[in-house]
Amino acid sequence: MTIEELDKNEALRYLGGKDASGTVLTVLSECEQALLKVLTPRYVYSVYEIEPCDKGLKLSGSVVTLTGNDIREHLFGCSRAVLLCATAGQGADRLIRELEAADVAKSAVTDSLASVAAEQICDRAEQEIFSKLEYAYKTERFSPGYGDLPLDLQPSLLTLCDAQRKIGLHVTDSLLLTPRKSVTAIIGISDTPVQPSKKNASCQSCPAFENCKIRLNGGHCGKEHAK
Ligand code: SF4
Repeated sequence: MTIEELDKNEALRYLGGKDASGTVLTVLSECEQALLKVLTPRYVYSVYEIEPCDKGLKLSGSVVTLTGNDIREHLFGCSRAVLLCATAGQGADRLIRELEAADVAKSAVTDSLASVAAEQICDRAEQEIFSKLEYAYKTERFSPGYGDLPLDLQPSLLTLCDAQRKIGLHVTDSLLLTPRKSVTAIIGISDTPVQPSKKNASCQSCPAFENCKIRLNGGHCGKEHAK
């Protein structure tokens, strides 16, 4: 997968601004070009039958149960689920770290663009995956950390997809994904129309978490991170 362009207005929104123009657009474009050179988008996925159980939804043939009410609501009526693990790669983290020492403003802009990149990689991955699957309806993406779906599912989800070996995606003891600009998500598949989720994304599982000015100012973008 190759990402040719990043949504600079979205990156600016994470930084608390809107409508990139003039000098701001120049800086965003410079950072975008530098970032695009080091991005290594990769993803891996698995498809599971899902079975309701006492604690939530079991991914059949595995020992993993998606716990909590919110995922149960999100996947209501779904018979299968796609588990997606995606990453923008180590190069983005490295570039952001290097810029921290040299140019803090560009580091923040690049961080924001890298968050956008992670989302775009997920969007493209989803398109590719669903172009190969037979399905009638699908839900939006839902990640550990949204609602009451616990972040501590991350290690199990990575293991199910063999994401450590296949795409170099790991999780720290504090349950942060590394590379940092990475996403795990669950997408339901249903034979009947699905309802949009009522839950907003938790900032905790958002690639823009650290530097998102909307969050730091006490707000929320209002979107599912799954868009
Ligand atoms: S989910 Fe939270 S951190 Fe992510 S863009 Fe929205 S407000 Fe910012």
